[in-house]
Amino acid sequence: MHIPRKRFGQHFLEDQSIIQRIIAAIAPTTHDHLVEIGPGQGALTFPILRAAKALDVIELDRDLIPILEKKAQDIGRLHIYSGDVLDVNFNELKKDERLLRVFGNLPYNISTPLIFHLLSFNNIISDMTFMLQKEVAYRLAAEPDSHDYGRLSIMAQYHCAASILFLVPKEAFNPPPQVESAIIKLTPHAKLPYVAKDYAHFAALVKLAFGQRRKTLRNSLRNVVPVAVWEALALNTNLRPENLSVRNFVEISNACQSMP
Ligand code: SAM
Repeated sequence: MHIPRKRFGQHFLEDQSIIQRIIAAIAPTTHDHLVEIGPGQGALTFPILRAAKALDVIELDRDLIPILEKKAQDIGRLHIYSGDVLDVNFNELKKDERLLRVFGNLPYNISTPLIFHLLSFNNIISDMTFMLQKEVAYRLAAEPDSHDYGRLSIMAQYHCAASILFLVPKEAFNPPPQVESAIIKLTPHAKLPYVAKDYAHFAALVKLAFGQRRKTLRNSLRNVVPVAVWEALALNTNLRPENLSVRNFVEISNACQSMP
């Protein structure tokens, strides 16, 4: 028997109706290249493997690998990567023309760095369906002017469309986590709606602005955005970062690049 490990964020899904709703949301087919992050004891893995016949999984806890291997034997082809997902180069998982369909009940302790890691492989992923801490899911999908809107919303929505599918109560897990959860779908844009000329500059600008969230743009970005940029874009510098859309941030960054 496997004892759940806190340090690996192990909260195993047990509620069959929730498991079925997640499988239905993923809608696996035999044509898909599916990749699961953190299969655990296989609550999602085996129903998906039954439908898709092949599946890649990435699991950090070595003790779970033999359990997964044994259970998969009569079901389908389970390709197990043993290690930390943050070290995985997803380009190496892609074997043919198919884009990756990534899913998982994510370890909440690494969810934000993991989302940033995955966003860097946006061009080879067709969709991502994740269980996350409810607050993180809300932040990913948040719209400007809302309490949850911030750097994570902007960076995720620069690359992806984000929508919350449904909430999951603590009781669906063993052991139950301390927080509520939500299923979120992130669908990378086939073509970016707004393109930053210098992505690193855009990302740094967003980080700087939200590092001083309560300050007006005029104050927080004083040293990096010339006055001429505000004038050219006719943006009110008394606004705060949460009042700006992804498009606004891209336009500010691009205008900075164009200034002499
Ligand atoms: N999918 C299973 C379920 O729904 O019952 C388990 C989900 S549990 C919340 C998170 C899983 O991610 C655990 O199996 C844990 O060992 C694994 N994990 C934690 N950190 C990881 C990492 N850095 N890389 C890969 N897997 C990780």
